Amino acid sequence: MNIFVLNCGSSSLKFQIIETDLDLIKDDKDRTLAKGLIERVGSQAIISFQVEGQPPLKQAAPLRDHRAALNYVIKWITDPETEIPGIRSLEDIHAIGHRVVHGEERFKKSVRIDKEVIAGIEDCIDLAPLHNPANLKGIYAAREQFGPSTPQVAVFDTSFHSTMPEISYLYAIPYQTYRRFKVRKYGFHGTSHRYISYRYRKLTGKEREDTNIITLHLGNGSSACAIKGGNSLDTSMGMTPLDGLMMGTRCGDIDPTVIEYLMHKEGTSIDEVFSVLNKRSGVLGISGLTNDMRDLLDEIKEHQDRRAILAVEMFCGKVRKYIGAYTAEMNGADAICFAGGIGENSPEIRKKIITGLDWLGIELDDSLNEQAYGGKAMKISSAKSRVEIFVIPTNEELILARDTLRVVLNVPRIW
Ligand code: ADP
Repeated sequence: MNIFVLNCGSSSLKFQIIETDLDLIKDDKDRTLAKGLIERVGSQAIISFQVEGQPPLKQAAPLRDHRAALNYVIKWITDPETEIPGIRSLEDIHAIGHRVVHGEERFKKSVRIDKEVIAGIEDCIDLAPLHNPANLKGIYAAREQFGPSTPQVAVFDTSFHSTMPEISYLYAIPYQTYRRFKVRKYGFHGTSHRYISYRYRKLTGKEREDTNIITLHLGNGSSACAIKGGNSLDTSMGMTPLDGLMMGTRCGDIDPTVIEYLMHKEGTSIDEVFSVLNKRSGVLGISGLTNDMRDLLDEIKEHQDRRAILAVEMFCGKVRKYIGAYTAEMNGADAICFAGGIGENSPEIRKKIITGLDWLGIELDDSLNEQAYGGKAMKISSAKSRVEIFVIPTNEELILARDTLRVVLNVPRIW
């Protein structure tokens, strides 16, 4: 089956066309036939498309909204000159899988999209006002352009964390707030943590039930997850993705009193304070330079900028703290797995995080650590480390495609 996987952000559209079926999954041979990214939807968009095995095609075009962007993608896919293997017309795409950020408590699994599901996703907008509307735009546009006969599936960022016990997901505020308004931790990056856990099992031959690991998705958005017995036991993001680790522009853990205090001191609205916490905090806020970790590390090499160093130390310190907390919460873990743009590509950041965990018996192999970047999945711990350390490049799109297949075929868990 050829699955069109769609991930719509507020001003972006990412897609892949993935060939998958039950046999391909068994052999781990699903294949990305084409992929693309459109940024700055709403103005002069920057477009990058790529057919498997060919160089990327870069373009720019004015694209008013997600509908226009998807239309642009479809024109490219069906253009006879594009030549995506096995794709001549839209009929060669058999199903669509959408990434949906927030599924609240109602969506614990991926589901086929119908009127009721759309209404459910709309109901979650209160909890994810930045993300769910963009995901819905993708769903509406895909329905319009692919027609009702192409099945569409929603895969939620929150679903993997639906196994968290109350003790992890409740905030210590009056229980009524949970009962009445569903105020609780939901967690995000679920497809990524799920993929990393799956790939760890493939690498080690472990059974799902025996998988006790800490997964670290470190990118512009970052989160940690404690996976026990193959299930999410706890995760660092909260009711929204603002909580937990220090991120590119998000503050992570914070005393809520800071919000009221800043409103008084700065004379600003609550919206402005939240805009600071979401968009001008984290690594950017501390360094005053950039949210981009690679640029920050370059800056430190060139100028030894004090606040750049501070931002990096804080970022790594926070991840280390969560590793310690989750190790305690799980009563020990078998492995720590790094993923995300930073986790997959920066030996320097991984070393900084792991240094200081030697009292737990966790130790890197420096030479292996240096070799792990650019998409390689490998073990990077030393032979005598009590806990193994892996770099596992994430692949959320693969989970989206496989879940879409599973839902369309109506088969239970397939891997
Ligand atoms: P997003 O959360 O937007 O998906 P990514 O997972 O793509 O983010 O990660 C982006 C981050 O990864 C950026 O901060 C980028 O600088 C960082 N990054 C990518 N490559 C490297 C590298 N070689 N060294 C350090 N950081 C890197």
